[in-house]
Amino acid sequence: MARYAMVTDLTKCVACQACTVACNAEWGVPAGYARTRVRSTPISGTFPHLASGVYVAQCNQCDRPPCVEACPSGATSQGANGIVEVDKSLCIGCGFCLDACPYDARYINPVTKKVDKCDFCLARLERGAEPACVTTCTAHAKYFGDLEDRHSDVFKMVYAMGARRMETSRVRVGPNVYYAGEQARADLVMAAFPPRPPRLLAAGEAWSRVLKPLVLAAVGATFVGQAVAFFNQLRNGEKDFED
Ligand code: SF4
Ligand code: SF4
Repeated sequence: MARYAMVTDLTKCVACQACTVACNAEWGVPAGYARTRVRSTPISGTFPHLASGVYVAQCNQCDRPPCVEACPSGATSQGANGIVEVDKSLCIGCGFCLDACPYDARYINPVTKKVDKCDFCLARLERGAEPACVTTCTAHAKYFGDLEDRHSDVFKMVYAMGARRMETSRVRVGPNVYYAGEQARADLVMAAFPPRPPRLLAAGEAWSRVLKPLVLAAVGATFVGQAVAFFNQLRNGEKDFED
C-alpha cells in the first residue's frame, strides 16, 4: 500500500498562488476560503540584509491526526494510504476538527455547512493523475509521491536530502507534507506560522455545541410528531361525529 507524501521546496516557490487557484477551481472552493494557502512571513532583518519566507500550507495527512480523534460523528477518518478523508454525508458541521487541527487546514463550507480540506486530490489519484497543485505549480516547487517507493522524488527528498516536517517539541502529529530548500527559509516560516497544540474540547463544551442541539432537535421532533398526531386524531374524531 502506498504511503503518500508531498514536498514543497520553499526556495523554489515564487508565491504566484497558482496552486491555490487550481485547487479552488478543481474542488469548487467558495470565495474567501482555500484548501491550499500561500502565506508570506513578515520581512525580517535590517536593510540591506532583509529576508522573508513563503509558506504553502494545506492538510498534512498527519500520521496521528487529532482531527480524527476529535470528530464525534465518524465523518473524519484515515485510509490505509495515510490520507485523512471527510465523509460529507456524516459531517454535522460541529467544527471540533477545526479546533483540533494544529495547522488550521480545515474550513466549514458556508453553503453546505460541512467541513472541507485538502485530501491530496484523492479523486484525481484514483484516476492516475497527480494533485492539481502539483501539476500547476509554475515554479515546479511541489513534489508528490509514495514514501514507500525508493525511486520516488519524495522518498529521495525526505530520506536523502533531509526535507523537514513543520513540527515543534509541543506538536508532534507526524505531518506528511514536508518542506525542502534553505534552512533559513524554513526557520522563518516556523517562527511565523508555528503549529498550535491541538485543542480537544472538554465534555461541557461538547454538550453545548453538539449534544444539546441534537437533544433539542430530537425533543422538538418528538413534540411536533405528537402535535401532528393529536390534530389528526381531532380531525378524525370530527369526521366520525359528522358520519
Ligand atoms: S493537518 Fe489538520 S486536518 Fe490535516 S490530518 Fe493533520 S490534524 Fe487533520
Ligand atoms: S465538523 Fe464535526 S462532524 Fe464534521 S468532520 Fe469536523 S468534527 Fe467531524
